[in-house]
Amino acid sequence: MRDYYDVLGVPKASTQDQIKKAYRDLALKYHPDRNKSADAESKLKEINEAYAVLGNPEKRQRYDTYGPEQFGQRYSEEDIFRGFNFQDIFRDIGLNVDFGMGSDPGGMFSRFFGQQPGPEQGRSLLYRLDLRLEEVAEGAKKDISVKHVRACGSCGGSGAEPGSKVIKCNECRGAGRVRRTSNTLFGQVQVVSACDRCSGTGKVHEKSCRHCGGTGGEVATEKVNVDIPAGVSDGMRLRLEGMGDYSRYGKGDLYIEINTLPHTTFKRDGDNILASVTIPFYLAILGGEAEVPTLKGGKKVFIEPGTQPNVGLLIKGHGVRRFRGSSYGDEIVTINVEMPKVLSAEERDLIERFRTLRDGSEGDPKKRFWKF
Ligand SMILES: [Zn+2]
Ligand SMILES: [Zn+2]
Repeated sequence: MRDYYDVLGVPKASTQDQIKKAYRDLALKYHPDRNKSADAESKLKEINEAYAVLGNPEKRQRYDTYGPEQFGQRYSEEDIFRGFNFQDIFRDIGLNVDFGMGSDPGGMFSRFFGQQPGPEQGRSLLYRLDLRLEEVAEGAKKDISVKHVRACGSCGGSGAEPGSKVIKCNECRGAGRVRRTSNTLFGQVQVVSACDRCSGTGKVHEKSCRHCGGTGGEVATEKVNVDIPAGVSDGMRLRLEGMGDYSRYGKGDLYIEINTLPHTTFKRDGDNILASVTIPFYLAILGGEAEVPTLKGGKKVFIEPGTQPNVGLLIKGHGVRRFRGSSYGDEIVTINVEMPKVLSAEERDLIERFRTLRDGSEGDPKKRFWKF
């Protein structure tokens, strides 16, 4: 039996704080997430055992009194680890922070302590749904096909062969829990966990359903009607409760993740819709009626005389209906003004005449030169 002080690499006269620090450093060093060497696990077990004794002043005193040899003979592993709460010790030495377990240390602890998870719940499923912008803007009802586990049609989801009796589980003798000794990184510990055979219920069916093999579920592709509210945004997930995988111990949910398909004419900007049109320069100058696209089809608008290039035309209430609201965003149409690239002789004359009228440049060469 190795001396616990040697295991932690501390002198016999160490303070409790020094022991704690030595343990912390070693636990970090041999943690299996960091240390992949073959003996890391047994090493960590040894360190834990040493700390279980030396980290507790009362046990440490007895250890000091008896010495390693006699202490080992007198005290069982169970004695050594009694009162040794891993979770508290971890928190105490700040390991839960160092291991990046975030807000959910449960995953790590259950792995360490060999605890069994409870009866398995049905899985939740994710379905990515492509929607046209028009559907997003107004809301839509969609039929989708979802492949999931549903309740077995033969046994109604119970897993029992129809007509068979419910009997006491002989694995746990009806207790629903089994006690077993588990070798963990912290040494052998007694673990009480849900019985695998009856999933903690203490009862089993005398005969399992022949159709589903006793699981209570069957895989099926089913049509699901989804009500998409107006104004949903990309990446948003709608939850359909209980529409995921079936399990006797709880159904999973179905999540519908929204993805809006690109639109050839429109872009979405929050609740607003953006579009652009290109008009001839004389329409921009003179103004007039025009039809611009909206999500609901063409709409007549009036182009003001003297409309400048790249100006936005506001069409109120033609955007996306607000999520969980009744009002709508707007459509903003950017007006591009197109200049003719080629002019006929007559058109050219007209434009020249316009210039003359504007700045009287005909007889004045200085006015033919533009300085900006
Ligand atoms: Zn069945
Ligand atoms: Zn059982």
